[in-house]
Amino acid sequence: MKHVYFFGEGRSEGDGSMKELLGGKGANLAEMAGLGIPVPPGFTITTQVCRHYQEHEGAHPEALEAQIEKHLQLLEGATGKAFGDADCPLLVSVRSGAAVSMPGMMDTILNLGLNDEIVAALASAAGDERFAYDSYRRLLQMYGDVVMGLKPETEADPDPFEEILDAVKAEVGATLDTELSAEDLKRLVERFKKVIEQKVGRAFPQDPKEQLWGAIEAVFRSWDNPRAMKYRALNNIAGLLGTAVNVQAMVFGNMGEGCGTGVAFTRDPATGENAFYGEYLMNAQGEDVVAGIRTPKPIIELAEEMPQVYEQLTGIRSKLEQHYRDMQDIEFTIERGQLYMLQTRTGKRTAFSWLRSQVEMVHEGLITKEEAVARIPADDYSKLFAPILDQEDIANRKLVPMTQGLNASPGGASGQAVFSAEEAEQRAERGEKVILVRIETSPEDIGGMSVAQGIVTARGGMTSHAAVVARGMGCPCVAGAGELHIDYGAREITVRGTKIREGETLSIDGFTGDIYSAAITVKPSEILQVLTGQMKAEDSLLYRQYAEFMGWVDERRTLGVRTNADSPRDVATAVAFGAEGIGLTRTEHMFFEGDRIVAMREMILAEDEAGRRAALAKLLPMQREDFEGIFCALDGRPATIRLLDPPLHEFLPHDAEGQRDVADVLGVKVEAIREKVEALDEVNPMLGHRGCRLGITYPEISEMQARAVLEAACAVHKAGISVRPEIMIPLVGHVRELALQREVVVRVAEEVLKEQGLSKAEIPYLVGTMIEVPRAAMTADEVAGEAEFFSFGTNDLTQMGCGFSRDDAGRFLKTYVAQGIYDRDPFQALDQGGVGKLVRMACELGRKARPNLKLGICGEHGGDPSSIRFFHDAGLDYVSCSPFRVPVARLAAAQAALANE
Ligand code: PEP
Ligand code: MG
Repeated sequence: MKHVYFFGEGRSEGDGSMKELLGGKGANLAEMAGLGIPVPPGFTITTQVCRHYQEHEGAHPEALEAQIEKHLQLLEGATGKAFGDADCPLLVSVRSGAAVSMPGMMDTILNLGLNDEIVAALASAAGDERFAYDSYRRLLQMYGDVVMGLKPETEADPDPFEEILDAVKAEVGATLDTELSAEDLKRLVERFKKVIEQKVGRAFPQDPKEQLWGAIEAVFRSWDNPRAMKYRALNNIAGLLGTAVNVQAMVFGNMGEGCGTGVAFTRDPATGENAFYGEYLMNAQGEDVVAGIRTPKPIIELAEEMPQVYEQLTGIRSKLEQHYRDMQDIEFTIERGQLYMLQTRTGKRTAFSWLRSQVEMVHEGLITKEEAVARIPADDYSKLFAPILDQEDIANRKLVPMTQGLNASPGGASGQAVFSAEEAEQRAERGEKVILVRIETSPEDIGGMSVAQGIVTARGGMTSHAAVVARGMGCPCVAGAGELHIDYGAREITVRGTKIREGETLSIDGFTGDIYSAAITVKPSEILQVLTGQMKAEDSLLYRQYAEFMGWVDERRTLGVRTNADSPRDVATAVAFGAEGIGLTRTEHMFFEGDRIVAMREMILAEDEAGRRAALAKLLPMQREDFEGIFCALDGRPATIRLLDPPLHEFLPHDAEGQRDVADVLGVKVEAIREKVEALDEVNPMLGHRGCRLGITYPEISEMQARAVLEAACAVHKAGISVRPEIMIPLVGHVRELALQREVVVRVAEEVLKEQGLSKAEIPYLVGTMIEVPRAAMTADEVAGEAEFFSFGTNDLTQMGCGFSRDDAGRFLKTYVAQGIYDRDPFQALDQGGVGKLVRMACELGRKARPNLKLGICGEHGGDPSSIRFFHDAGLDYVSCSPFRVPVARLAAAQAALANE
């Protein structure tokens, strides 16, 4: 078996297509060399060897040694130098490189092949002692750390090498490394060797071959170091063989005059502008540019400093873009006026840069529209729409976050900390900007949440109430910031000893989960400004490129995209973002506003049916008005409206003060309220008296809601706007539940149509159900007999399918994901192997029983790209998600369609 592949100008054994085997770096070095771009020659040891190493307790395949020997000889031939030779030494770098780039996660060793004897020879060959000993001390430092494991013992300890370096600098009064003389560096080398021997118990190996093997093994070991594992977990990178090892002839950017090193992007990674973007340092090596010890210069200055090299570099820039047909991230070194490329890879960039670079590449004729659509990462796409914390402001003032939570809803926000929804509303009324900070939120907080600039919770995960509602509103949210100790009574938060009182300013970054105890400038998204008419399209390049790109997306998309929305305002936003209808209106959200909650509580507290009906009669006109607003905003698009779902206790206050207030308003005894709250108390309310179970025990609730929907539909129809109501029964597990509720809805609907003198052809209403109880999925053929549509409630289906309480699973799901039990949180990314099977089964059974059954999904997964791909493949008609995720869902749906072509 071939374990080692050579690369060098005109002689590469591999190419750019071999990323799995050679890693991205190895494959691209081979490819660049094949293109005639100057690359120092070298060889790549395959990722299969890494896998072998992991599986055989650190042993390598038998043939490896001979193959490395042979390739070392090839390398010596290509460079005219010899490894371990004192007269004309070949020095190499040893770098990791997996199929997917993991910047900075694994280790690199430079200048390998130096020892006490060779360093002296190098000094005279280069005519530069300083350079030779600087290279040697760097090798000792990297090798001592990476291979021999000499690291700080605790986080608080200084790096043992940096400590010595600082001491030597202090002794000679130098502030920069470059101020050290050759003699200083020699002393540094001696001290580095001594500290290695003392602390590790072994001397730095003088034999270059031993160094090489030590470095190769260290790279393989680094595949499983904690930071690399964490990076893979965070970025959903799984299924790779391991890392390859690249051994490459050294070129030196630190050999004095005419030498340097740099990194660059072929386009701007922040904005996407077609401009060469990068930085470099003269007389420097490798890490110096990124390490921040010396300030690098912008790449354009190289045009003055070394015009020929700059011209060659810009030539390579366009050659690489033409060849790879995407933005590249490159590393280069200049050795005595000679340019070498050390790396090229697809550049990581912001959502803004993705959009601009791809749209412009289509205009330039470099890529097709389909390629642009397939490439832009859908996971990051919603970042285009959120307000943003001004990063310049943060950098200028050197602000650092006081703590962190989950990046639950993207966007930046700044405002006064408040600890209750009421306080949030009062301050917002006075025109103040607030950040609502709660231990966790509940539907009662909705008023405060809707006026807040941002929301922070100390508890709860990515599908907690705060996270879901915030994403729905496009409100930035940091959830589950566990270090926050919130004292509602004292109206203050403590974080690691620092106190923040009510009214003091907080800023949050929902992209990262960072929380700052300072005011930071916030900028709104231009796209939103144009969509809401606050800005002209011609003034926003971002908007124009977004609109053009979304046109390409919709050309390819076959899956419909609807929105989860409960108010005309949300509907309008979603429609502006391209929603084709409503997939879920959670009617209960409407009951919390203003007087409604009073009537709702009256209904819950009523002793009998007559009392309930009296309270429902007060709610009817309010609901009707809500639905009218929604139908008007939809302008003929369909609306799936769900009947009441949550357990009733959610509408009642649980604290004594709240209960007293309600007693006063309703004119009943506080005991009556307390008793009702106790009577409604359930051990697991998410499995209790909720969903269609409410309508089955109190059919008058469903009657009122069906009437409100139909009356609203008739009124809007009469006003000349067509309507397509779809009434949805929640939490059905047994077909008879649905049959009973359907009967109620149809009876009322027919009554209303008759009263209004309209026909079903004019108001083409549908009755359907959510599929969110496993039993309903398994008996979907029976259920379809009573349903004209299914909408998968994958939040509840995940809760019941996996047996995880949606309210409490956040406590342990992180551990589950860390241990690889689930690849991702199943409340965020559909558990395709389990819950997904229930979805597929229900689709098949349902369509068998009713071929024209309409299928949709309205759980949180409707906005998750990997889940959308699954729903496309499962044959659903549409996905539904919160308004701000609509463009993401459109993009993910188009990508799913393209992937199947
Ligand atoms: C669901 O269960 O997926 C759903 C959409 O309903 P809710 O989250 O309101 O229970
Ligand atoms: Mg549900």
